[in-house]
Amino acid sequence: TTADTCRPMTDNQIYYDDDASYEDIEEKTVAVLGYGSQGHAHALNLADSAIDVVVGLREGSSSRAAARDDGLRVATPTEAAAEADLVAMLVPDTVQPDVFDAIEPHLDAGDTLLFAHGFNVHYGQIEPPEDVDVSMIAPKSPGHLVRRNFEAGEGTPGLLAIYRDATGDARDEALAYAQAIGCTRAGVVETTFREETETDLFGEQAVLCGGVTELVKAGYETLVDAGYSREMAYFECMNELKLIVDLLYEGGLGEMWDSVSDTAEYGGLTRGEVVVDDHARDRMETVLEEVQNGEFAREWITENQAGRPAYTQRRKAEQAHDIEDVGAELRALFAWGGEERDAETPKAP
Ligand code: NAD
Ligand code: MG
Ligand code: MG
Ligand code: MG
Ligand code: MG
Repeated sequence: TTADTCRPMTDNQIYYDDDASYEDIEEKTVAVLGYGSQGHAHALNLADSAIDVVVGLREGSSSRAAARDDGLRVATPTEAAAEADLVAMLVPDTVQPDVFDAIEPHLDAGDTLLFAHGFNVHYGQIEPPEDVDVSMIAPKSPGHLVRRNFEAGEGTPGLLAIYRDATGDARDEALAYAQAIGCTRAGVVETTFREETETDLFGEQAVLCGGVTELVKAGYETLVDAGYSREMAYFECMNELKLIVDLLYEGGLGEMWDSVSDTAEYGGLTRGEVVVDDHARDRMETVLEEVQNGEFAREWITENQAGRPAYTQRRKAEQAHDIEDVGAELRALFAWGGEERDAETPKAP
């Protein structure tokens, strides 16, 4: 934790289209490294915004054909970076340090290295040259939505952070980039690499990914162990989560509580904290501390260097959970598992 990576929350600002100027990016060549979830969305939106884009992908990468089919120019990451004034690092976080080593010689004074997540910069896995701007535009959404919203004339909210402003123009340029991919249509909040990285990791570990899946499995197992059918347990503890999350997303806690029965509301308000109690909150603090002190980052980096043994084993165990079998059976039986199903937004029955 260093002072220069941590601007106070009270400095945060929200930027919209009016705060961004196309002139700050129109002359630049942008290299988008990677053509996955974020990469394809950024590259296509930039191109539609009349920005000169080159997609950087390894020879033999299966994404090359996809980018070409979408009408984009493709080069190797090194070639793309050499040509570009702004390099968007949109390969997976775990491979970014290697890609950075390859492109670093092509980052000239005044160029920009732009990220969509702060992990590698914040934890010192990537140390960009002092004379290069280092910024972040992180859409708060998966890439396919960034693209879909843009095509629909809408925006995707995003975060902006400036880690290093070598040129004095880093913020203006990042805002222009955010505008070109559609983020300023919805609103861009200023944050820091530290804040984005630590809150992102904590959120996905304690709540969104780790917390929710453990809550679902624990609820499912509790019902099944008590003799209820697997199908009922699946519906109650997994499938209905979609309906609840939609309400939370649309209107917050209030809209969700208003929409469920008074019985559900009273039961939830009194029993929720019995389950997620002080013990769970203490554990959340521990998880946050390990994010803040770098322990999680070190563990994950080491895990990758070792060929991901624990990751592979955990993933296998998760796939083997009974709830996955019953879920697959039920999704095949009901309409929302059939042709009506939109892969990105499953419909409730
Ligand atoms: P992804 O896994 O979807 O895409 C990976 C892309 O990188 C693919 O095109 C792949 O071909 C390419 N690639 C893989 N290995 C490579 C290598 N060694 N050299 C060159 N190219 C390689 O990645 P993503 O989820 O879009 O993540 C990109 C960045 O965006 C990350 O920093 C991530 O944290 C951030 N981010 C992702 C999301 C999201 O919803 N996926 C949201 C916000 C921020
Ligand atoms: Mg260059
Ligand atoms: Mg996140
Ligand atoms: Mg994340
Ligand atoms: Mg119910």
